[in-house]
Amino acid sequence: MGMEAVPLSTPENRLTAIVTLAAAVDGVDIVVGAHEGLVYSVEAPNPDMQPYAEELASISAGYVETVTTRALAGKASVIVASHRDKSLLVADIGEGYTVAVLGEPSAISALLAPVRRIVEGKPLQCPKCGALLEVFTQTCPRCGRRVPFGAPSCPFCGADLSIKACPNCGASLRLVEERLEPVEEAKAAREAAMKPERREAVSIAAPRLPLGIGLGAATLGAAVYFLLAAAFGFPMGEAAIAGALPIAVSYAVAIAKSK
Ligand SMILES: [Zn+2]
Ligand SMILES: [Zn+2]
Repeated sequence: MGMEAVPLSTPENRLTAIVTLAAAVDGVDIVVGAHEGLVYSVEAPNPDMQPYAEELASISAGYVETVTTRALAGKASVIVASHRDKSLLVADIGEGYTVAVLGEPSAISALLAPVRRIVEGKPLQCPKCGALLEVFTQTCPRCGRRVPFGAPSCPFCGADLSIKACPNCGASLRLVEERLEPVEEAKAAREAAMKPERREAVSIAAPRLPLGIGLGAATLGAAVYFLLAAAFGFPMGEAAIAGALPIAVSYAVAIAKSK
């Protein structure tokens, strides 16, 4: 497939772009594209996770719906939830299509910005040749792990990756991360989770900005944990404890579209 020729105007193309990217990033266990909760496509770099594809497809549809109903404004489009050594990213890409990515927290957090840009139809492109760079990966020169091309630094070892060559035309490019929005959102969501009484003030003060889900963060973190516990056999006794003290053990970030 000629990457530069892939338009992101349809949900199927956005899904394919996200699956292509995520499956090539080190630390990702499984990527499940789904339509209306049913499996549409699966890539499982960790074959042990293949049997969970159907559950992840089902989870992703339900999770998007749950977060959307709790969103303070707009529709949740990209959600990340973490617990212990696993993170789950769920993207709502429109017309009933969703993508779920499960893997190491470092890998998932590095995917948040690229996936969001793909979902919003604003992917990184080479200013010289126009290649759609968002679907490429790069190999970290320090630790050797594969990370998204759009990552400004290595999520595994922290190496600076802001200057890189276009894989299509070789042009030297400097990547300026988009205003560090994911980091601020994650921080805002954690702060909101610790101070839930402030969530309204946050939303009113910045109604047009993507919102961390304050009200739902604790509950949603637990919700994802319960789902993961059911899917991956984590001890349900610990899941119940997590439900009682979810702020301490988990967080969720939802990026809401303001329109
Ligand atoms: Zn590295
Ligand atoms: Zn180029």
